Amino acid sequence: MTLTVVGSIAFDAVETPSGSRDRLLGGSAVHFALASSQFAPTRVVGPVGDDFGEQEYAILRNRGVLTDDVEHVPGGKTFFWAGRYHRDINHRDTLQTDLNVFEDFQPKLSPASRDAEVLFLGNIQPDLQRDVREQCRAVKFVAMDSMNLWIDIAHDALLETIALVDCLLLNDSELKQLTDEPNIVRAARKALELGPRVVIAKQGEYGSAMITRDGYFGLTAYPTTDIVEPTGAGDSFAGGLMGYVAGEDGNTDDATLRRAMAYGTACASFNVEGFGSERLYELDRAEIDARVAELEAISRF
Ligand code: AMP
Repeated sequence: MTLTVVGSIAFDAVETPSGSRDRLLGGSAVHFALASSQFAPTRVVGPVGDDFGEQEYAILRNRGVLTDDVEHVPGGKTFFWAGRYHRDINHRDTLQTDLNVFEDFQPKLSPASRDAEVLFLGNIQPDLQRDVREQCRAVKFVAMDSMNLWIDIAHDALLETIALVDCLLLNDSELKQLTDEPNIVRAARKALELGPRVVIAKQGEYGSAMITRDGYFGLTAYPTTDIVEPTGAGDSFAGGLMGYVAGEDGNTDDATLRRAMAYGTACASFNVEGFGSERLYELDRAEIDARVAELEAISRF
């Protein structure tokens, strides 16, 4: 089934206690697509500037990502984000966010992207997410991500977008901030009242939880010890999850969503084992399947 993602396409500069990189291919839509394309053809929607070249397109196309809806803005600069990680790599500070070509971006989806049956609204301004949501009329399952910045500065727009999706994926802390509720289960239930029928709480190294009106499912993270740099872990989690759903003909029953979370978890574990999403560039499906099988064995009780 076809899958479309809108989100940032970025250059990232990251500092960790053990090394730094000043120009990594990043952005929510890129991390997502490098994972989701393992399971289903993925179209990326978003703008780039003159600094985005053949090398970057090649990374995406080598994975089979469809880039026809990547819009080149002549004279523009690609979105730029810089962050610094602490020794406890779950903590980071954002040093810089330059929206650049995203400032004036107005998504115009190609017919193929508009026909998507599975849609992911990656982290970007909520008005842009909503615009894309409204263009995709044939869609059967829509999920979205967001972040503390938009909860702070675009709260009402964010609520309008959340009302239009089936599944909301946020970090624990973002769910608590969004709903002004310090208990995660209550926070997730309050988020369900905003419209989605599924809420997925990302909990970093502790795993993730899926909350629906009548159910709760928790999944551990894959126990990797080789953490290099975690930027994009949440997006590659979403990519594995949504890619799996698209690969299963858009089936979103409880059992499929649980398995989809395991695929997201496996993709995120590879993502954190290198800078940016570089571990995903050459990954094959069998390596992902092997980690999902290990997760199934770990979580059996
Ligand atoms: P994550 O580590 O899952 O939070 O995702 C990090 C990615 O999100 C990086 O590749 C950034 O380029 C991108 N990013 C950071 N801030 C923003 C923002 N305000 N809007 C859109 N994308 C962002």
